[in-house]
Amino acid sequence: MSKPFSGAVAAYIGLGSNLDDPIEQVRSARADCAAIPGVRELAFSSLYRSSPMGPQDQPDYINAVMAVATELEAAALLRHLQRIEKEHGRVRTQQRWGARTLDLDLLIYGEQGIDTVELTVPHPGLGQRAFVLYPLFEIAPELVVPGLGRIADLVVNCPLEGLKRID
Ligand code: ATP
Ligand code: MG
Ligand code: MG
Repeated sequence: MSKPFSGAVAAYIGLGSNLDDPIEQVRSARADCAAIPGVRELAFSSLYRSSPMGPQDQPDYINAVMAVATELEAAALLRHLQRIEKEHGRVRTQQRWGARTLDLDLLIYGEQGIDTVELTVPHPGLGQRAFVLYPLFEIAPELVVPGLGRIADLVVNCPLEGLKRID
């Protein structure tokens, strides 16, 4: 993993898709995230296949985690992620954790703990979700997650729950 540019913050983005060619959705979302002004890709995990959370009557997900260096504030980065979700045809329904073409979650933003109406960082599901922890560990095995501790410890305490690496 290369060094972030000076003054930039290291952030981690969780990518997920289970509709309309999920592998291609995640691959092209990677390029879209890397093209955000003030964002540079540092690392990208393998792709993983996971069983859905919540409603089970939906396809499996493709997941990955991306490390970036960014000069954007966390809220501005989130707005770009939401724009990219929309450009990928994300439709927001009433159903929590329903099927979607693309989900981009801001997992970690430097050392910061953020708790506003729009944004909670570190992402609240991070510590329990195999499809986040395993790809994160793959690209940042030394990471200490603010408030949660070492990624290595989080991974050993998290069952795989059917998660499979696919490339
Ligand atoms: P989950 O957040 O449990 O993975 P989800 O990704 O399906 O569920 P979304 O529908 O994508 O949830 O987002 C719901 C709201 O979560 C958004 O409107 C957004 O403002 C808010 N949100 C809070 N913290 C974050 C974060 N760290 N990353 C992305 N969205 C966040
Ligand atoms: Mg999510
Ligand atoms: Mg989301």
